This record gives sequence, C-alpha cells and structure tokens, in this order.
Amino acid sequence: MPTNFSLQIPAGEDRMRQVCDTCGFINYVNPKIVAGVVVDDGQGRVLLCRRAIEPRYGFWTVPAGFMEERETTAQGAAREVWEEARAKVTINALLGIYEVPRISQVHFMYRGTLSDDGFGAGPESLEVAWFAYEDIPWDQLAFPTGVWALKDWAKVQNQAAFVPFSNPPGSEHLTHPRTPASD
Ligand SMILES: [Zn+2]
Repeated sequence: MPTNFSLQIPAGEDRMRQVCDTCGFINYVNPKIVAGVVVDDGQGRVLLCRRAIEPRYGFWTVPAGFMEERETTAQGAAREVWEEARAKVTINALLGIYEVPRISQVHFMYRGTLSDDGFGAGPESLEVAWFAYEDIPWDQLAFPTGVWALKDWAKVQNQAAFVPFSNPPGSEHLTHPRTPASD
C-alpha cells in the first residue's frame, strides 16, 4: 500500500479499504479472473505446459493465466494458450468455473482443440507436451483448478454440450480462506 494511503472503513461501507489521506481516493481491490483451456487432440490426449516461472516452477499446468483488460474470458484463455504453449486454439465449450476465494480468484476453464498442429514452449514454459489421460502427472500438477479441469474434461470428453462444472464437493479446504480450525 502506498505510504499516503491508510486503511479505513469508508462512510456507508462495511469493510476496510485503502483510502488516500490526501484526496480520499478509495483503492478498491477486487478478485482476479484466470482463464485457461484444456486443449485436447480429439484422441484422448491433452496439452500440458511445465512452468518456467514461479509460483510452482517446474510443475505441469493447463495453460491458463490472468485475464487482461478489454478481452473476453475466452479470448484471454486462447491468448494464454498462445503465450504458454505457442499454439492456436479453437475453443468449443466452457468446461467449468472454479472459485478460489482464499486468493480472491475465479478461474474460467474452457475446452478447445488446436487450429493447426504447431505448438512449443513459450517464454513461461520449460516444455509443452501431449499426455494421454492415464499418463497425466497428477502429483506434479501446479494448481488444484487444473486438476479439476482435467478430471472434468475426461467426464465430458465425448459430449458436444454439457453443463459447466464447478468446484468439486469436499474441496473447500483448498479454496476457502484459512481459519484457525482449518490450518
Ligand atoms: Zn490521493
């Protein structure tokens, strides 16, 4: 927080905000949206990236990242596939919306296929590779939402249309704010 800001509860509000001591500007901090794609080859394999950046350097991930301004979630998801996997993707369904209130994030995960055969490691990836579902390195996946997206992808692999998934039951310990009892 900049030094000329202090934490106050603005009039008419119910929680602490960063307020400028000089002009009263309120710095509203809101959740971030992550967008990604489970890219499959139509033959049961999915495209995963091994992270070249923190957090979770060296772990595998579904290509995904923070949405930019002035783009849709689907555009952001496709852009992330290009940035991390140097692949052009055609999105065909919204796979799931997963929420991680612990870190104030909402993850939109799509399903897509490559528009052409090219792919490769972008600057944020050590390597990019196809994995058959049974070969996915589950214990080396970077984030829970990627695990859920891949498992949900497998359930609807042969379905053109389906209801998008959400956080699986019993996963609250991974997503909800820590309390003394949950630590
Ligand atoms: Zn100010």
